[in-house]
Amino acid sequence: MPPGDLLAEWEGMAVTDGRHLFLEGGAGVEIAAVRGTRDILPGESRLWAWVEEAARRTCARYHYEEIRTPIFELAALFARGIGEVTDIVEKEMYTFVDRGGRELALRPEGTAGVVRAVLEHKLYAGPLPVKLFYVGPMFRYERPQAGRYRQFTQFGVEAFGSADAALDAEIISLGISFLTEVGLKEWELRLNSIGCPVCRGPYRELLRSRLEPLRHELCVSCQQRLDRNPLRVLDCKEEGCRRLTEGIPPIDEYLCPECRRHWESVQEHLNALGIPFRRYPRLVRGLDYYTRTVFELVTIGLGSQDAVLGGGRYDGLAEMMGGPSVPAIGFAAGLDRLLLGLEAAGTLPEPGPEVDLYVARVGDVPQAQVLRLVTELRRQGLRVDMDFLGRSLKTQMKTADRLGAVFTLVVGEGEWERGEVLLRRMSDGSQEVLPREGLAEKVAERLAAAQAIARGEV
Ligand SMILES: [Zn+2]
Ligand SMILES: [Zn+2]
Repeated sequence: MPPGDLLAEWEGMAVTDGRHLFLEGGAGVEIAAVRGTRDILPGESRLWAWVEEAARRTCARYHYEEIRTPIFELAALFARGIGEVTDIVEKEMYTFVDRGGRELALRPEGTAGVVRAVLEHKLYAGPLPVKLFYVGPMFRYERPQAGRYRQFTQFGVEAFGSADAALDAEIISLGISFLTEVGLKEWELRLNSIGCPVCRGPYRELLRSRLEPLRHELCVSCQQRLDRNPLRVLDCKEEGCRRLTEGIPPIDEYLCPECRRHWESVQEHLNALGIPFRRYPRLVRGLDYYTRTVFELVTIGLGSQDAVLGGGRYDGLAEMMGGPSVPAIGFAAGLDRLLLGLEAAGTLPEPGPEVDLYVARVGDVPQAQVLRLVTELRRQGLRVDMDFLGRSLKTQMKTADRLGAVFTLVVGEGEWERGEVLLRRMSDGSQEVLPREGLAEKVAERLAAAQAIARGEV
């Protein structure tokens, strides 16, 4: 039996010739990531770890705790939470029926799942506010382009249980701290209030009455928006639509007394924090569930005018999803585009060394003993690697250099028999003979000293 058939029998489903995957006797399918998805390989994955660590660090300072919700949920949850008439739910969701006949969807955004979890576990009945963050993949069937993937990663925060404008200011401040943490010091905060269902109704009617006579001058999307959600005509990017909406009074002139007080209080809090903002009447955000405060952080100097982070208050969402009334506010940031922007701006951190120490084996020293030595060094907390391909000393030294090792430990046959090894400092080539006895501790000491010097502490 050819090995391929054996494999097929073992795996019960698929064999591969290295380029194609053969599914149960069918034609070969090319082995490639699905359109709109990608692999994040070492090198880039370090940058991802770095940006996610910045998010976690920032959240810890603001006392936001991590929540991990499932990647798929009942499709109805998103229809309910995001609104059935949004592009996301209508055209962009990955929906499927599972073997139990449930209609499921890969999450297209993070908020609906978090709200579902808060309601399901009655977190709103515990200490308030409930302050949460998440980092993870989201899925939307969109046209792939630079920085936009069908599986993309969002970092988001959500705070439940307080309608106080101080919380709006805190969330915005958290967003700015995060951008600062990843090296984005120039940004513009765009801020608006879109009121509540009470005051938004009359404003919607105003928009309809002003725009209906101009319907055929609006772009195709806006003609649809006019019927479903006329507020969204305001944030259309088309030049023609912008011109037509120019004379329309801003929504904040139509706020009810409660919404007006909240809107003023948000601005006072931001002023108190020294956070500059621009009132941006066109900002309405794409999702139906927002109320009152909406905001975006647009970075300056990253080439695009797209927001890297956006969010707002959604006081009515919990109730809309069948729970009690729980005021809430949050934001989400697309990390794929953020990293692309940082790369374009040349502000990504330099890749650091991959190991502290490389162990080079020369001659007939038994591999098992070298591996044991490497393990002892790793137990000291050092990042250590060694050769597994029997390469020459010269090649091993090159590898040590490439990995950024501070020292290379040369285990040569003669020294090994005398119970000694050679420690070579890679920066200047200076060498020192060390006894095998207590070697790991000594190497750890030398390394700590060398790293302190490199940091300029000595
Ligand atoms: Zn209102
Ligand atoms: Zn338009």
